[in-house]
Amino acid sequence: MCGIVAYIGEKEAFPIVLKGLKRLEYRGYDSSGIAINNNLRLSLLKKQGKVAELEKNAEGRDTGGNVGIGHTRWATHGEPNDINAHPHLSGNGKFALVHNGIIENYAILKKELISRGHVFKSETDTEVLMHLIEDIIEKQDVSLFEGVRQALHEVHGAYAIVIISKENNQELIAARKSSPLVVGIGKDEFFVASDATPIVEYTKNVVYLEDGEIARLSLDSGLKIKTIGNVEKTPYIQELELQLEALEKGGYEHFMLKEIFEQPRSIMDCMRGRLNLKNSALLHLAE
Ligand code: GLU
Repeated sequence: MCGIVAYIGEKEAFPIVLKGLKRLEYRGYDSSGIAINNNLRLSLLKKQGKVAELEKNAEGRDTGGNVGIGHTRWATHGEPNDINAHPHLSGNGKFALVHNGIIENYAILKKELISRGHVFKSETDTEVLMHLIEDIIEKQDVSLFEGVRQALHEVHGAYAIVIISKENNQELIAARKSSPLVVGIGKDEFFVASDATPIVEYTKNVVYLEDGEIARLSLDSGLKIKTIGNVEKTPYIQELELQLEALEKGGYEHFMLKEIFEQPRSIMDCMRGRLNLKNSALLHLAE
């Protein structure tokens, strides 16, 4: 299960999402991709290999737009290649989805969707979920939020997902089950990521989504959360304690080198308040 980053606000989404993906590189991955709502068009960039490859590929392309989603993939369904990399588009090209995790019943859902005329480009379980959401929205004429909610009722497995729409650059939809997702709340902007590392330099105010929750992050109406069972929840905003310096390499060439040189300080931090260094006394036994 790998990395997700998303942004919606007044700034350019692409550089924020790209930087966020770099912050998540420590989790390991085999490919990466970004989708941006660029003036009510979805522009999509996906590449096997490092995020640096994706960045190189973006050179000279129009990556403008205020809403974006990004992903680093650790392949579970389908080999690591450009086509299987996320984001995945719906058949009608209106939605783009990133997903961490596994859709366990994807094969049966895929068969059913193929029998209803859906055509798949990738081998992933993720694309099946995207088509299922699209199918529900088209058939029932419901909102993206409601389409996601109903689709997740039919899905077994683990997921953290974020979806954007081509026709609406004012909202992002995110949901999770058994795979973490955190929402960062800035001034007139939102961030979503699979951990707080891509968010901490922009805002300290975060909401950790609970299992089985769906969030709508809207520039017009703020953050709304519901459960998959359609119960409204009040977002619980927490303050992040993570410091940006803790994420950087601190001038060392590698994170491992940084960690080795940090050991004396880490031990001091652990012992602080428990040891009196002046007279070598133990202040508290393990608490
Ligand atoms: N199951 C999805 C895939 O194979 C997502 C894997 C991940 O968590 O990166 O594409």
